[in-house]
Amino acid sequence: MTEFDGIRAVVTGGASGIGLATARTLLGRGARVACLDLNPEVDAPLIGVRADVSDDASVRDAVRRAAEALGGIDVLVNNAGIGAQGTVEDNDDDEWRRVLDVNVLGMVRTTRAALPYLRESAHAAIVNTCSIAATAGLPNRALYSASKGAVLSLTLAMAADHVREGIRVNCVNPGTVDTPWVGRLLDAADDPEAERAALAARQPTGRLVTPEEVAAAIAYLAGPVSGATTGTWLAVDGGMAGLRLRPR
Ligand code: NAD
Repeated sequence: MTEFDGIRAVVTGGASGIGLATARTLLGRGARVACLDLNPEVDAPLIGVRADVSDDASVRDAVRRAAEALGGIDVLVNNAGIGAQGTVEDNDDDEWRRVLDVNVLGMVRTTRAALPYLRESAHAAIVNTCSIAATAGLPNRALYSASKGAVLSLTLAMAADHVREGIRVNCVNPGTVDTPWVGRLLDAADDPEAERAALAARQPTGRLVTPEEVAAAIAYLAGPVSGATTGTWLAVDGGMAGLRLRPR
């Protein structure tokens, strides 16, 4: 027996970065896993299901198809998200609506569609991918931070609403993670290597977080070993939120 034997998991944004690492980690520990993503191409035995979390009909259809393929749902990892840079003066209302629609409403839609299946599970858990941006006051990230602040509050509210149904809800707050998303940001920088070094230096551990480290934290919160943990967050940020170091 392995930790996730018999567990059926759905991971949104499961075709890349943190989501793909999470899907592979859960699979490696015995779960069956469906990846819901704009990109349905994942290697078997992961099950790829096309879904756009900004479209309610697409989400309902994808969650139903995933549940059919898996025979139910025990674990939902709400991970799909997009970035945004700028101060409040830099993003217009349409951009605010677009990012909140994916990062916040996307989790609402997927959770709403998955709850009937989670209620049937003896090991139901939801893990949301939040961010250091929810609590840290990062410059030039007003919209993204607001979206992740909402994810943090949503996590706590959902945990309260569903605890008596036996459904646990928690989130992870990663720092800067070495995913294709961050790769794209670095590629767009004038000096990618200098930018990478600056991002690494921002974290007290002096390096970027790996997707596998975030996946391990998500697996902990999704699995039976964390059965007494609900309504909280786990920082996976190289000490960024918690430590106050003296300047070198
Ligand atoms: P990524 O770009 O590598 O992967 C994101 C995946 O989400 C992609 O496969 C993409 O196709 C999918 N996706 C995007 N929009 C979607 C939509 N509308 N419907 C369905 N799927 C969609 O990004 P990542 O770095 O792995 O980020 C994953 C999550 O982690 C996001 O919620 C992000 O906010 C969060 N996060 C990332 C970092 C970081 O430094 N990379 C830090 C903190 C939090």
